[in-house]
Amino acid sequence: MKAVVYESFSATPKIMNVEDPTPENHGVVIKVEATGVCRSDWHGWMGHDPDIVLPHVPGHEFAGVIEAVGKDVQRFKVGDRVTVPFVSGCGSCPECHGGNHQVCGNQTQPGFTHWGSFAEYVSIHNADVNLVTLPESIDFTTAASLGCRFVTSFRAVVDQGKVSAGQWVAVHGCGGVGLSAIMIANSIGANVIAVDVTDDKLELAKALGAYATINATSVPDVAEAIKEITRGGAHVSIDALGHPTTCINSIKSLKKLGKHVQVGLLLADQATPPIPMNLVIAHELEIIGSHGMQAFRYDAMLSMIKSGKLSPEKLLGRTISLEESIAALTNIDKINPPGVTVVTRF
Ligand SMILES: [Zn+2]
Ligand SMILES: [Zn+2]
Repeated sequence: MKAVVYESFSATPKIMNVEDPTPENHGVVIKVEATGVCRSDWHGWMGHDPDIVLPHVPGHEFAGVIEAVGKDVQRFKVGDRVTVPFVSGCGSCPECHGGNHQVCGNQTQPGFTHWGSFAEYVSIHNADVNLVTLPESIDFTTAASLGCRFVTSFRAVVDQGKVSAGQWVAVHGCGGVGLSAIMIANSIGANVIAVDVTDDKLELAKALGAYATINATSVPDVAEAIKEITRGGAHVSIDALGHPTTCINSIKSLKKLGKHVQVGLLLADQATPPIPMNLVIAHELEIIGSHGMQAFRYDAMLSMIKSGKLSPEKLLGRTISLEESIAALTNIDKINPPGVTVVTRF
């Protein structure tokens, strides 16, 4: 099959012809119809992820059609239209038994722990636990855009933040995760304040339902600006970027008993931001992580998409070819246009 392969970290990947994957007994091989380009792929390519073994194929947010099925798979068959959350659980550890596949100790992540979806085919482990059947009404490009940023935001807002109607929600960073979180929080009746450093992303945030926007470069103190708009602070605040500044601003922008949800990855030299624990104690704040979403929780999200309450297709950016994915991946830190870039031609 054709695949994007890198043989050393931060060296330009190449299109190569590699062996087709075969399914494990409990797994499937999926013909990739669409795969999103994500900052996590860039982190992996830069060498920030210790799970990656070289040579490597990136790609973890995709949708496609089952091409081959392992002998132990019960619930899926060749020809099924499917997608997967970017964290796949093992299905047999205490976390998986407790329904928390997103923190499985034996988790697999295509594009990190094994070869990913910047290729014609991708192998997925423990298919019965991890695959999600796609309704006919959702096209592959939109489905590919769900697997990482959108589901992560859904869990952050709904399951971890437990946002409810009428609450103030601050979203720091209006990339894919942030814009998804804004759409989701707005759809369940929260008043959302969007924060970013670029006006075009804030415009998009407004179009997706943000009540107010703050350009962080034009106010002296982002947290104070949020406290002013909300008259006291946000009930829930999300660091959707993953940077010490947005993380700390998010915590400082909370009202008493508020919840900070960390969704953006903090890696390398930014991994341990100086969190204001004095505020966490004095205001009884909660600091919560959010990491992917279990396959079984897709039902709730897909039904909100079907009913028109959520429109993830509004977050799509450009569609590109597998060849073009190389430049999109390696330049994501420099050129990051609004919307999810999706590879649709292989
Ligand atoms: Zn597990
Ligand atoms: Zn991703």
